[in-house]
Amino acid sequence: MIPFAVLIPVALVLEYALHLVADLLNLRAIRADLPAEFHDVYDAERYRKSQEYTRTKTRFGLVPTTFHLVTLFVFWYAHGFQWLDEVVRGFGFGAIGTGLAFIGLLGLAHMVLSIPFSWYGTFVIEERFGFNKTTPKTLWMDALKGMVLAVVLGGPLLAAILWFFAAAGPLAWLWCWLVVTAFMVVIQFVAPTWIMPLFNKFEPIEEGELRGAVLEYAKQVSFPLEGLFVIDGSRRSTKANAFFTGFGKRKRVALFDTLIEKQSTEELVAIVAHEIGHYKRGHITKGMVIGILQTGVVFFLLSLVLREQALFDAFFLAQPSTYAGLILFSLLFAPIDLVLSFCVQAFSRKNEFEADAFARSTTGSGERLVSALKHLAADSLQNLTPHPLYVKLHYSHPPLMQRIAALRAD
Ligand SMILES: [Zn+2]
Repeated sequence: MIPFAVLIPVALVLEYALHLVADLLNLRAIRADLPAEFHDVYDAERYRKSQEYTRTKTRFGLVPTTFHLVTLFVFWYAHGFQWLDEVVRGFGFGAIGTGLAFIGLLGLAHMVLSIPFSWYGTFVIEERFGFNKTTPKTLWMDALKGMVLAVVLGGPLLAAILWFFAAAGPLAWLWCWLVVTAFMVVIQFVAPTWIMPLFNKFEPIEEGELRGAVLEYAKQVSFPLEGLFVIDGSRRSTKANAFFTGFGKRKRVALFDTLIEKQSTEELVAIVAHEIGHYKRGHITKGMVIGILQTGVVFFLLSLVLREQALFDAFFLAQPSTYAGLILFSLLFAPIDLVLSFCVQAFSRKNEFEADAFARSTTGSGERLVSALKHLAADSLQNLTPHPLYVKLHYSHPPLMQRIAALRAD
């Protein structure tokens, strides 16, 4: 028998400790002197501000993670899962309705408890460093839209998963995998046209120097760009970004208005070249395949532990159920997820180097991208000297100095 009652809390505490150590190492890795490379984009004052930003964000980040862990333990050892189970069973909703209520209420509680932190992060910290453009109305609307999406999209999917585990026998995990995979693929297709516009306005970039230069570049690398859009990132923050979405004929590149405002046409073309590089090197498809395989492993492991009475005992649950099993499994899965995310982040960082290399070889020089990245770093007060452990845990992109070195390597 697996000793879940010991294993899960120990793993959760160790994971918390690992993140804490990474945070502390990251704070200690901050260097007082500005690296020579950045003298053209930072002055002493701005560099000092960037370090203060890293310190403030790291220290504040500890508050919600500690709070959520403590809340979980209190709820757990006060027999909260059993209490909630009795409450939702009392509704008399039937097997699937009861499960939706159980998971929905836990999700709602988590969201409500997260709002104060997101409020403080946006209106106090981002505000203090001059990044915030979000209004309280936008923040509430975002939370509301997120919740509606979770109910409308997540609800039926969750109902299907609960139904398969109730009705499909030993191969339920396989059916769940198929359905969730189909769901993920459909979302990829509809997100650019139906979901993202709920949060941001997408407008085609008008005729002019920028549009001409980007389309010219896309033609040169035989990339059929269906849409080139500007999105109103400035509604929420002064920070800039760019991204690529869509498959097949629906390929689109979106640039934040805050990016277009600050970078030259040459730099913007280099950024688009990087985004197209992700597509050309197959990163989008590879990412999707990894996601699908990961989902299969998750459902298979889930099907194994759902039968373990000891898991339910560990959380003081009298009656086993698929819906409670899903939540308990997500806690049990946390350390496995940590290992998987190490690998996924490493894969992502490798892809960033490849996309950079693509941009360098197709624009004739790495310097335009170097210059774009340096401006981005200075504008967003990026930490230039992150600790390697922190990078492994949190960075989907390589630290800037490594990217610059690679862009200039022979
Ligand atoms: Zn990238």
